[in-house]
Amino acid sequence: MTGTVHVIGAGLSGLAAALSLADAGVAVRLYESSPQAGGRCRSYHDQTLGMVIDNGNHLLLSANTSALAYARRIGGDAALEIAPDCSFPFADLSTGARWTLRPGMGRTPWWIFDGSRRVPGTRPADYLGPARLFFAGPDATVSDRMATDGALYERLWHPILVAALNTDPREASARLAARLIRETFGKGGAACRPVIASGGLSAALVDPALATLSAAGVPIRFGASLKALERESGRASALVFAGERVPLGPGDRVILAVPPRVAGAMVPDITVPLAHRAILNVHFVDDEEATPDSATLIGLVGGISEWLFRYRGRLSVTVSAADRLMDAPREDIARQIWHEVASIIGRSDDMPRWQIVRERRATIAATPAEEARRPHTSTPLQNLFLAGDWTATGLPATIEGAIRSGERAADFARRAT
Ligand SMILES: Cc1cc2nc3c(=O)[nH]c(=O)nc-3n(C[C@H](O)[C@H](O)[C@H](O)COP(=O)(O)OP(=O)(O)OC[C@H]3O[C@@H](n4cnc5c(N)ncnc54)[C@H](O)[C@@H]3O)c2cc1C
Repeated sequence: MTGTVHVIGAGLSGLAAALSLADAGVAVRLYESSPQAGGRCRSYHDQTLGMVIDNGNHLLLSANTSALAYARRIGGDAALEIAPDCSFPFADLSTGARWTLRPGMGRTPWWIFDGSRRVPGTRPADYLGPARLFFAGPDATVSDRMATDGALYERLWHPILVAALNTDPREASARLAARLIRETFGKGGAACRPVIASGGLSAALVDPALATLSAAGVPIRFGASLKALERESGRASALVFAGERVPLGPGDRVILAVPPRVAGAMVPDITVPLAHRAILNVHFVDDEEATPDSATLIGLVGGISEWLFRYRGRLSVTVSAADRLMDAPREDIARQIWHEVASIIGRSDDMPRWQIVRERRATIAATPAEEARRPHTSTPLQNLFLAGDWTATGLPATIEGAIRSGERAADFARRAT
């Protein structure tokens, strides 16, 4: 193709789009409003803790083939740890019970007949519970299609669905939950091996992408905030940044890889999701010598904490759909969560140095109403395309969805006339 593709937004979707175009030999320019790339998936140096941390723990699974291929392409996979098998240790904070979920590696779920592999207090027949999700209509919620109580829900489906959908499963889209289960557990344990960015999110997914793009000669402008998009005869005709107008030539195309409210303001003739859900992360310095060499993960039920990530030198807890905690006093939350963590890993109640990161708009709400508002890649403007985890990827708002959306937008931009 002739012309340049202007990619706006250097989150993972924008980086994936730019990379895919550069790989195809297309001229690309990348613009980012903030001083740093990575958007909602980034690392930074935290002064209180005196170390580099991520804005939030991000879990990938071996099923996330596009995300893993992207990491390999840019050489970021060395900062990712892929577990050798599918094994999820859990602890119940209210009873002290512990168990390890160990689905078999194959697609046929024989493991549900093995009491030592399945969730304690459940029977094989309980695992058929989510079957009705697969026939759900677009308006159905998870609770319309499966029981949202009982041991299996509390100990397996709730922790998994709330983390992956970042929405209380009772109000979440049944179709999205079904897609998630089909792409993960439906493919067997081999697809559900945890992948953790133990070397940091930026080291795995952002910095090597910037280096690859720079090596390919792609200009990247930070502090470039798109303010408006001019249009003429059904095409985007100019990009207006603070203090600069970039006219678009006849062969030029644009990929908007910005958050939904920004895209909605630029292109009022599309619908975009409006409601979001928050994620809370609490990080604790861990000076104990017993900290593991490799990152590990423990699922927690029966308290506030949902997933405990143990990194070398740091313990970190994630709470999804955490809107109820956004205005609570920081120290109170840190203390309650440390109390839970200490009880699980056998530490004293003396709280180490801590930091809380609250992402209020962590992802769009995965409800049927918001699902219906997710727009397609193409727009009413012939040379304008959308990318982002909030577009209609068919997946929850995740890294995998963001990367697939960016690659799809790049594909559309290349083929556009
Ligand atoms: C705390 C937290 C935990 C998460 N955990 C997981 C997880 O465990 N697993 C998982 O798969 N996903 C997880 N996610 C979701 C994942 O981070 C996102 O799906 C992904 O990062 C979205 O990338 P994106 O490119 O679609 O959007 P964004 O990252 O939002 O990128 C948009 C970019 O556009 C830029 N921008 C905005 N306005 C403008 C403008 N006017 N001009 C130019 N640039 C602009 C922004 O600065 C940003 O860099 C989590 C998210 C959060 C916040």
